[in-house]
Amino acid sequence: MNTINADFRSDTVSRPSPAMREVMVKAPVGDDVFGDDPTVNALETWTAEFAGKEAALFCTSGTQSNLVALLAHCQRGDEYIVGQEAHTYKYEGGGAAVFGGIQPQPIEYSNDSTLDLNKVRSKVKPDDFHFARSRLLCLENTRSGDVLPMDYHSQAASLCSETGLALHLDGARLFNACVKQQVSLQDIAQHYDSISLCISKGLGAPAGSILVGNAELIDQARRWRKMLGGGMRQAGIMAAACQYALENNIPRLAEDHKNALHLAKGLASLPGVNCDIARAQTNMVFMTLNDAAITDGLVARLADEGIAVLGGDVMRLVTHMDIDRSAVDRLISVCDAYLQGIGQH
Ligand SMILES: *Cc1c(COP(=O)(O)O)cnc(C)c1O
Repeated sequence: MNTINADFRSDTVSRPSPAMREVMVKAPVGDDVFGDDPTVNALETWTAEFAGKEAALFCTSGTQSNLVALLAHCQRGDEYIVGQEAHTYKYEGGGAAVFGGIQPQPIEYSNDSTLDLNKVRSKVKPDDFHFARSRLLCLENTRSGDVLPMDYHSQAASLCSETGLALHLDGARLFNACVKQQVSLQDIAQHYDSISLCISKGLGAPAGSILVGNAELIDQARRWRKMLGGGMRQAGIMAAACQYALENNIPRLAEDHKNALHLAKGLASLPGVNCDIARAQTNMVFMTLNDAAITDGLVARLADEGIAVLGGDVMRLVTHMDIDRSAVDRLISVCDAYLQGIGQH
């Protein structure tokens, strides 16, 4: 086994930097379940203000933050309208149905990762006891690295206010969208009733997500978080890392985006590789091989060279703060050598 020194599987793999670890060590802490942890309290206040919302809730993960939002918005027998491939539908274990009796109404994404608002409208159910009560629209930004167009947020919000839905954003990688579009968090957040933000992805914290919304919603979400086992005690150690990440690591996402574009261009130039450069909008690159049967061999060869990637018919490569330009160049040249070696050139 070779040591992995460049890990493209996800931006969740980034490690806390020495400076981040230092603020964690020095963080003043208390018991957050008693509301006494000054570092958690400061993070929640700071993030709410940063997003232009009344309140915020520090959660263990993005899955928990999305789930407590769904549980706070919806009652048993309500439904949320959501993308077919959305994290909040497909990748969170059916938590909303398990814990809340909340029914998903999935619809297909359009090519630009929006949900067609006419389709959404057609799924909003009339007030009739045959139907679940349509209660919430749930969007995702970025979605597989795609950035939602700025004018889409207000269009979605108008549809929601017209039809009586609330609007939630799974913003696991929302800061990638903000940096890409050169807008503030508030510019996007103003259109949403609640937003879940992951601090453990591109921003580099070891764990932690934050839900923002109005005070009443966040109170409800705090109850649910306790029931779900998310009441952490001296959580300030983790909150300090998240505060550091929010204050220091947002602008540098632009570097990850440049590296992703450089990677996409490099891969697209290799014979036998399909890589749509236009899809590398933020920090994700998708590639397929003409001959899918050689994928496993490529993954193994990269691992031999200390480079970790996920396999699959469509290979997703993610850039982040622990991937520099030379790691990107190394990945491209190992792919090139491998494809040449098996006669793909
Ligand atoms: C990662 C992610 C989440 C949350 O995942 P956790 O691993 O629970 O933090 C939510 N939505 C999207 C789109 C994600 O990529």
